[in-house]
Amino acid sequence: MPHGLVVLFAGLLGAVVGSFLNVCVYRLPLGQSVVRPRSRCPMCARPIPWYENVPVLSWLALRGRCRGCGGRISVQYPLVELATALIWIAAAARTDAAVEALRMGCFFTILLGIAATDARHHLIPDHFSVGGVAIGLILAAIPGGFPLGDAALGLGVGGALFLALKLVADYGFRKPALGAGDVLLMAMIGTFVGWRGVVQTLFLGSALGLVIGVPYLLVRGEPKLLGSYLPFGTFLALAAAITYLWGEPIIDWYVGTVMAM
Ligand SMILES: [Zn+2]
Repeated sequence: MPHGLVVLFAGLLGAVVGSFLNVCVYRLPLGQSVVRPRSRCPMCARPIPWYENVPVLSWLALRGRCRGCGGRISVQYPLVELATALIWIAAAARTDAAVEALRMGCFFTILLGIAATDARHHLIPDHFSVGGVAIGLILAAIPGGFPLGDAALGLGVGGALFLALKLVADYGFRKPALGAGDVLLMAMIGTFVGWRGVVQTLFLGSALGLVIGVPYLLVRGEPKLLGSYLPFGTFLALAAAITYLWGEPIIDWYVGTVMAM
């Protein structure tokens, strides 16, 4: 099959995966099944037929409104579908190796789901992390790709590192300061980027949190920083994506430029 056709197919597959990701983002925080019941309008509970559920296109055709009750359908749905399609297109275009493309597609889809859920509901369902660990280990077990030993080591280091950080922070603040969900999240990230990548993700995620998150909270006029919410999971997900794509060039640049000064 020509590579252009593979990339196109990956984009279509990504749009479908994104449609399922929407269901996960919407239902998992509510403790609902992602398989049953079929999709319904959240406002009038009318079942949505398949032709009104085509990724991106249906939302555009319906102009973002339910055909039953006229209620507004969040723009988050087509955006997540579009973003997932672009993720899978990028993954297929980046490499000819099918397993590596699949690894990037799955990893970035899970990261997007985590960021979307954290931003929307202020929590990260463990399903994303546990599912991600399973997918990461299975894909690493296929010979010729990311080594299984690196994935297992990343899993252990990611979990242990964040657990240690959590224990220190909990003791320092005299209350649970970091979520147990973040420990699972870091273990999942380690499964995909290895132990070096997970250390890098933690530094990069903390830096992003400081540079973007803290000014954002200050601008919004929330003086009690510790009492307000900082979506740390979203910053970690962003940092993990950057590490996956450009982790080694960043380390080379750091060692060659910053440390040489
Ligand atoms: Zn409706």
